[in-house]
Amino acid sequence: MPVSASSSPLVPENLIAGAWLPGSGEAVQSLNPAKPDDIVASFKGATESDIKHALEAATGAQRAWNDMGIIKRGQILRAVADLIDQRREAIAALMTREQGKTLAEARGEVDGSSETIRYHAASSRNPLAKTYPSSFPGEHIEVVREALGVVAVITPWNFPTQIPAWKIAPALLWGNTVVWKPASDIPAVSQAFIQAFHDAGVPAGVVNMVLASGRVAQHLVDSPQVSGISFTGSVPVGEMIAQSATSRRVKVQLELGGHNAAIVMPDVDPFFAASQLTIGAMSGTGQKCTATRRIITVGDIHDSFVAALVTEVEKLTVGDGANPSTTIGPVISASAQAQIESAVADAVSEGGVVIARAQVPKGPGFFVGPTVIEGTMEVRTCREEVFGPITTVMRARDLEEAIELANSTEFGLTASIFSTNDADILRATAGLTAGLIKINAPNTGSELHVPFGGLKASTFPAPREQNAESVADFFTNTKSVYRRVAPRRA
Ligand code: NAD
Repeated sequence: MPVSASSSPLVPENLIAGAWLPGSGEAVQSLNPAKPDDIVASFKGATESDIKHALEAATGAQRAWNDMGIIKRGQILRAVADLIDQRREAIAALMTREQGKTLAEARGEVDGSSETIRYHAASSRNPLAKTYPSSFPGEHIEVVREALGVVAVITPWNFPTQIPAWKIAPALLWGNTVVWKPASDIPAVSQAFIQAFHDAGVPAGVVNMVLASGRVAQHLVDSPQVSGISFTGSVPVGEMIAQSATSRRVKVQLELGGHNAAIVMPDVDPFFAASQLTIGAMSGTGQKCTATRRIITVGDIHDSFVAALVTEVEKLTVGDGANPSTTIGPVISASAQAQIESAVADAVSEGGVVIARAQVPKGPGFFVGPTVIEGTMEVRTCREEVFGPITTVMRARDLEEAIELANSTEFGLTASIFSTNDADILRATAGLTAGLIKINAPNTGSELHVPFGGLKASTFPAPREQNAESVADFFTNTKSVYRRVAPRRA
């Protein structure tokens, strides 16, 4: 199936055992969120039997893939990255059309995805095992890594290629085979992404994609053929997956939600902090797990910071991501748009005050004006994740109160502080309960080779993603091998 960004509906198919196979389940459509009349994909979703077929293919292919050796697997992954680079413009255009992000954001994501795959491919020449000294002279102790087997990868719609790249590339590098279940809103761009693996020569059955609904994907989660599950998405689905996996002693990795705080100290330039936090809150239309959801101003900077923030937010240009002047694309769906609007209305009824709202274009697209709400922790939006271009502002007397407010949700994904004072920065770095701390930078954004993940309800059980060593720890089991030399039989 060719990669295409044309205006006729695409008919994406499942990739199972190296073949493109249509599903026979319920009818599914994906829409262009900027122009919902534009049907991007129209097809039948995968069924339980498609999932079984994919699991059988992955199980059957695992031994030969593992035996091929890590260096050859790395070479194949490099070929995948090269193909993604060659198809960059087509994949990015399709991502904008189906997911809604701006073309600049989509190009950046495609580039990050190929770079991620290349990074993991390069680690194929890293040391494979560790040796330890032994108390017995002549004994060698080696800790070796082994593939888990078949890994289920379940991903959300907000980063259609980057999150799958973080998971699929290291899973394959370490000799696992994969059954990938992308989010239902983005079937066409998911197919374009996995097609690069197929076309680059990843053998049949090694990577499989099933375009299933969440309900059907439960069969993947519960399958005894799966030895590891890597999931990114919402807390309720993550908790359900964790229960199923731990009851069968299957390795599980969950990257979940966030309600990320940023502290603005009185000594910092308010215009700088406002421009950085507008990026943190609104880029990607606020549909990032790392987005700034709560800004806590300390002391007398409040009024000047808020004035600067309102100016920054209200000059954002909301529109079709394919238009070069757009800075904020639509949200993913009509139901997301309705949920976000109702969260804003609830915030106002709970005592929050809307202090900034960017304009939205007229027309049927799923547009939401980037919004700033001033409130307290009594307002639900100030403590619960609303997955869109909404951020909140509140006051604290001093840094200690700000840290307490920052830590006062169930989440612990990212946190930031804006300050010029080293003592305050050190205190915040130690006091903030988050897996990623940013100093004078937006909460969002991370380097693909640095450990990524949260604390508290944001990540479970807390193995990190992205960094080569962290992913090796998740996608392999280790064996400690003690070897002594036996005397020959006389
Ligand atoms: P979601 O949990 O609704 O869906 C995620 C994936 O799980 C989708 O593919 C979905 O179809 C699938 N799914 C749903 N029910 C399932 C079931 N019963 N069995 C198997 N699979 C099932 O999340 P979403 O709306 O796609 O994404 C938004 C959420 O993801 C937000 O909460 C956001 O914070 C979080 N997120 C977290 C990170 C991170 O790294 N921490 C990154 C991006 C998004």
